[in-house]
Amino acid sequence: MPTALVTGASSGIGAAFARRLAADGYRLVLVARDAERLAAVAATAGDTAEVLTADLSTEAGLAAVAQRLHDDQVDLLVNNAGATLNRSFLKTTAEDEAWLLHLNIHAVMRLTHAALPGMTSRGKGAVINVSSASSFAPVMPGSTYPASKAWVTHFSESIGRAVGRSGVRVMALCPGYTRTEFHTRAGIDMSKTPSWMWLRADDVVAHAMRDLARGRLVSVPDWKYKVAVFGMRHAPRGIFARVAKDTRGRDGR
Ligand code: NAP
Repeated sequence: MPTALVTGASSGIGAAFARRLAADGYRLVLVARDAERLAAVAATAGDTAEVLTADLSTEAGLAAVAQRLHDDQVDLLVNNAGATLNRSFLKTTAEDEAWLLHLNIHAVMRLTHAALPGMTSRGKGAVINVSSASSFAPVMPGSTYPASKAWVTHFSESIGRAVGRSGVRVMALCPGYTRTEFHTRAGIDMSKTPSWMWLRADDVVAHAMRDLARGRLVSVPDWKYKVAVFGMRHAPRGIFARVAKDTRGRDGR
């Protein structure tokens, strides 16, 4: 039975990965801070799901999960835990920003680093790093979240190319707005975001698993966001800045 370790599995996209991977026959190791909620997800993911409580913004939490990746034969790592801030850079503290970087970037680097040696020596395995469609341009003025996700996308593509020949896959998953607890947790009012822009977590995961099987390095679920990402990648920055609106209804000051 293959093993998958999913971070941020207590809600949203991570919980959707847990459901999908359990159905695909994986033994699961589910990571997040909230042990009770993790246990509830584990209960719906079959008898073999195991809970590993860790705060990935701390050194102790990262060390525990990295050790697990070192000791266990993990076939699929999903670096999904992540968060945003609800304030522009001029209003955050340096500690807020360091926390964001630690969770969104450092944890992804650390856990990928811990997982890859075993995978490359076995000549198989995969890492999915959950990034964001916002990683392709500095959308949402003043928010440092897209910059953190730009690192995740570039990192995944780069490492994916480097390990591809060894039979191991690394893929960035770049969803657009997805109905989860993500914005509520940060206290962001999304009531002005049109309903057509929202994706379902289960659909995002299904798309990711299809793209992973196809050997894609970057996965952008849904045609709407594929078009948006094309624009972000190829439109001149000046034009992009004029047409791009912050659909969360904030001005970023
Ligand atoms: P979510 O429902 O808020 O889930 C976030 C998960 O991360 C939870 O399981 C949370 O669990 C865990 N987490 C948060 N801080 C953590 C920490 N310090 N240590 C360990 N686990 C932590 O949001 P989501 O939308 O599913 O987010 C998953 C990923 O998708 C994130 O990387 C996010 O950036 C990305 N994403 C989301 C959207 C969107 O619109 N929702 C769009 C693009 C990308 P605990 O609280 O139990 O620790």
